[in-house]
Amino acid sequence: MSGSAPFQRVVLVHYHEIGLKGHNRQRFETRLLKNIESLASGFDVVTVHRLSGRLIVFLREGAVQAQAEACATFIARIPGVARTSCGFKCGRDIDQISAAAVDALGQAAPFASFKVAARRSHTDFEMDSMTMNKVVGAALCEAYPDARVRMKEMDVVVHVEVVQNSAFVSAFSIPGVGGLPVGSSGKLMALLSSGIDSPVALWQMAKRGAVCHAVHFSGAPETSDVSEYLVDDIAHVLEQTGCIRSVFTVELGGYQREISLSCPPSLRVILYRRLMLKVAERLASQVGAKGLITGESLGQVASQTLDNICCTDDAVAMPVLRPLIGTDKQDIISTAKMIGTYSISTEDAPDCCTLFMPRSPETHGKVAQVREAESQFPEEEWVERIVSEARLREYRQPK
Ligand code: ATP
Ligand code: MG
Repeated sequence: MSGSAPFQRVVLVHYHEIGLKGHNRQRFETRLLKNIESLASGFDVVTVHRLSGRLIVFLREGAVQAQAEACATFIARIPGVARTSCGFKCGRDIDQISAAAVDALGQAAPFASFKVAARRSHTDFEMDSMTMNKVVGAALCEAYPDARVRMKEMDVVVHVEVVQNSAFVSAFSIPGVGGLPVGSSGKLMALLSSGIDSPVALWQMAKRGAVCHAVHFSGAPETSDVSEYLVDDIAHVLEQTGCIRSVFTVELGGYQREISLSCPPSLRVILYRRLMLKVAERLASQVGAKGLITGESLGQVASQTLDNICCTDDAVAMPVLRPLIGTDKQDIISTAKMIGTYSISTEDAPDCCTLFMPRSPETHGKVAQVREAESQFPEEEWVERIVSEARLREYRQPK
């Protein structure tokens, strides 16, 4: 069965954590609703309502199953969404519910078995959920005589939810990314390269509800500016799900040259990093962000040893959040593929990290020694100048 149905098409949006947030719940729900309304506006959405622990996205009349599935798939990628499902709204009447269930199941992916899971959020509906399961199940068996009812390992679960004035029936579910809606946890500034890790780190924090700004350090004028274009492509991917607000781009090449000319080669990388963090911290203050994000993972490369992390953290007062610190590269790659940044990140581009690298970088930096090496540079002046020359690109994010 395909084409439009007599019932209004909806996408049901389920969320987990929001339910746990007590009196903040309404604020989170409103945030998620606004984010979905704004981000999914291109998907035949008419309106989004809040209804007994769910959001209901109403699709325009005449929308077909493929459009509903595309919308549900898209919304499942928005932070805060635990699961989406496609279905219909119908009257609070068991015959209508059964008819809607027949339509919904008929349009779900091919199936050999199913079960019905009914619930009422208002007990004033005359039929209890066990009886609804049986009645709707019987209607489905009649419509699809080849299909079997199974309580475990079934192909499709047909969900029925009876609410105050209506009922919702769905038979196609997609797991969501989970987390909290962007805009519910303050602002952060991410150090964003065009590599695999930092876009994932930024996304993880956006998924914890943070509004993320970013700063990218190019190796210009000593290298090409290709990395800036890749970072812009990455930001456009993150923008689709509302995960990035802006990217500052700054050129670090000239400063790295100065550092490399007069400090012990083994300390160069730590000094570049400290300068990066200082610039990021200053930009963070400008936008009202209270913390920094990096994509470091303990022991992954020479600069990411515990000693060197201590040396870089020492450069700034703001907390440096490292959401990938205990994550294996393989898991980071899987997430990068899932969020859509991987193919961009695997393109080769020189950035400040490929510039003036020493043959054997220090893996056990000592804070006092690093401070001493740094003291010969006018860092404060540099930071001022770099920040004043930063170029800003803004991205669409729900207000
Ligand atoms: P990534 O895959 O994120 O580039 P990496 O594995 O290359 O990380 P490093 O080069 O040690 O590791 O970088 C560690 C972190 O420093 C990055 O995750 C990122 O947060 C930050 N960083 C590195 N290079 C840049 C850059 N050019 N611009 C902004 N931040 C950067
Ligand atoms: Mg890198």
